[in-house]
Amino acid sequence: MAFGDGRIVAVGSVPEEPGDEVVRCDGDLITAGLVNTHHHLYQWMTRGRCVGCDLFGWLTELYPVWGKLDVEDVRAAALVGLAELARSGCTTAADHHYLVPRADDSVFDALAEAATTIGIRLHLARGSMDLGESDGGLPPDHVVEDLDAILASTERVIERHHDGERIVVTVAPCSPFSVTPELMKESAALARRHGLRLHTHLAETLDEERDALQRFGRRPVDLLEDLGWVADDVWVAHGVHFDDAEVTRLGAAGVGVAHCPSSNARLAAGMCRVVDLERAGAPVGLGVDGAASNEAGRLQPELRQSLYTARQRATRPDTFLPADALRLATEGGARCLGRDDLGRLEPGLCADVVVWPGDDLADVPDPLAGFVLGPDRLARHVFVGGDAVVRDEELLGADLGTLRRDLAERSRRLWP
Ligand code: ZN
Repeated sequence: MAFGDGRIVAVGSVPEEPGDEVVRCDGDLITAGLVNTHHHLYQWMTRGRCVGCDLFGWLTELYPVWGKLDVEDVRAAALVGLAELARSGCTTAADHHYLVPRADDSVFDALAEAATTIGIRLHLARGSMDLGESDGGLPPDHVVEDLDAILASTERVIERHHDGERIVVTVAPCSPFSVTPELMKESAALARRHGLRLHTHLAETLDEERDALQRFGRRPVDLLEDLGWVADDVWVAHGVHFDDAEVTRLGAAGVGVAHCPSSNARLAAGMCRVVDLERAGAPVGLGVDGAASNEAGRLQPELRQSLYTARQRATRPDTFLPADALRLATEGGARCLGRDDLGRLEPGLCADVVVWPGDDLADVPDPLAGFVLGPDRLARHVFVGGDAVVRDEELLGADLGTLRRDLAERSRRLWP
């Protein structure tokens, strides 16, 4: 494989030319960079908490703690979170950041700077919540923002950070139970004025479905449709509780789904209908989700988890194969994020490429089966736009030990 000017130039038998830097990968595996379609990097500050809770119980305990996070906390969490993603072969990550305490939106500057330091692409989802407890929402009032302030801040974040390549801004109200219908509609209009994509949580748990039926007399997908969000510029996180007709509607409209199998298992949310959604035409990608519900925060192990989840759901062993898991983690994720320049090893696409150690797989007849079903794996080399981000399993942009110590010190201060 040859790279030049940030793109893949050739794949297959490629002769060496004078001036080339050559990286030998004999016996290793090479894949396109993995794409993480859903994360909350700030949650690295609150791992190991609420381990026996469902989503609403977990959120209710954690919202007040998250409300204490300052910009430097978010930066510290993002650096560790992006570093762990990079080491696990992720070259593009979507971060859904919906907590902006004291309306200090410099957190988005910190997130963008952290991505630049680590060296991977960031789809920066300017999240938001405007429905506090006193108005019937789940989050406490002090962690929600005012609608007009959210829209003005989103415009600022787009102006400051969106370059369409390394940092891509997305407009992302948090979830049906923490935002008003007005915010959903205004966000869609704002995103479409700028040609940007939309993201939100949807149909994660049955509690959410009951809440939507109680407050609006509508199921979550119907609500989404009422708000103009059933469209191909939208991808939703989780998408667990869809009936047959909803799967067909979402597939026909091209709504993407960020499948987060470990997080769904941890919170006992249910199992996403990945096979049905893909068959209906919906792009499906993988997400680690925040580290408060997926303590590992690494993308490569999610391939195995997605295979296990699909087979457990179908109670069939042939329903989802290792190649399906890799497709979700690469092409499927790129489609969710609207990136036709990522997700495949083809000339002309971005040189986002991962080299995985293969020395333990020499006896495995299908290396892809070994990669997906075998032990968790860290990348040997990671390239983003042809630039090395990880070399010989070492992160180049920052010292991970220092980042971890800083994170631990900050995290301990949050708890009495
Ligand atoms: Zn989430």
